Amino acid sequence: MSRNYQAELVGVFGSPVAENPTGAMLEAGFASLGLDWRYLTIEVKPEDLAVAVSGAKAMGFRGFNLTIPHKVSVIPLLDQLSPQAELIGAVNTVRRQDGKWIGENTDGRGFLRGLKEDAKVDPKGKIAVLMGAGGAARAIAVELILAGLAHLIVVNRSESRGKALVADLTAKTGASVQFQLWPDPCFVLNHNIDLLINATSVGLFPNVKAMPAIDLTGASKAMVVCDAVFNPAETMLLRHARAHGLRTLDGLSMLVYQGVIGFELWTGQSAPEEVMKAQLIHELR
Ligand code: NDP
Repeated sequence: MSRNYQAELVGVFGSPVAENPTGAMLEAGFASLGLDWRYLTIEVKPEDLAVAVSGAKAMGFRGFNLTIPHKVSVIPLLDQLSPQAELIGAVNTVRRQDGKWIGENTDGRGFLRGLKEDAKVDPKGKIAVLMGAGGAARAIAVELILAGLAHLIVVNRSESRGKALVADLTAKTGASVQFQLWPDPCFVLNHNIDLLINATSVGLFPNVKAMPAIDLTGASKAMVVCDAVFNPAETMLLRHARAHGLRTLDGLSMLVYQGVIGFELWTGQSAPEEVMKAQLIHELR
């Protein structure tokens, strides 16, 4: 009987990349469905990205993830971008389709799926405050706008980065978006805000006692507070929000769903979400 010893290959290119837990989550998913797929976590320096991508193409990879610092520099090496990746201007997932290499961005899609499935919130017609203007904020903003958000307020510490994001979103989508410089001593939430999202790195390990400077006293009791920070999943912001009686959504949800979406794009099969989530929680303990 002939046997097939050749696994399907996917992976992640980044620098640094050794502490990225995505591979453990994806491989748990592959194993659970009995798929002979491998996810390789590979350190690739910026000057080697083009050679690494050529290598992946030559070795028949089914696709790969990109993390810091390759999410923008990979774009010229690809054949096509998804509409979301085009709008966001960054790629974190590449898939092979009919010999073409297509760039996707699953960060924002992961957030949106978590918002809808875990927090049971449809952003259509809602008003959101988004803290931060970096890569994660950009991806989340684009997906919220595509999902029909009525109005977005971007709050950022540095004016130039915040204004650049708002100008870009307005020009590319025509959506209702405004910039608010982070006021001193804190940003005060109005009662008309439906969603508050932290897409800054405030609260990220090891600064786990830090919290974005906000005042929730006047917030609507129906507002949902979301954090992109996933390490730790239980951030000071989410604790503070729950102490105010507000519902919350953690950054693990976004991280799991972006992996789930990648799994589905690559394999064409429904991902075993619970298995992948359990593995990720195990890795982050
Ligand atoms: P970037 O470096 O691109 O952006 C960081 C943002 O945080 C900027 O807006 C920056 O403001 C702001 N910021 C940093 N320090 C402070 C501070 N002390 N006070 C106020 N604002 C501050 O990072 P990313 O966008 O890639 O990541 C942001 C967060 O999202 C990280 O915690 C990351 O782990 C998380 N993330 C989570 C994902 C998930 O799947 N859950 C996926 C991707 C990211 P300024 O412009 O003024 O510098």
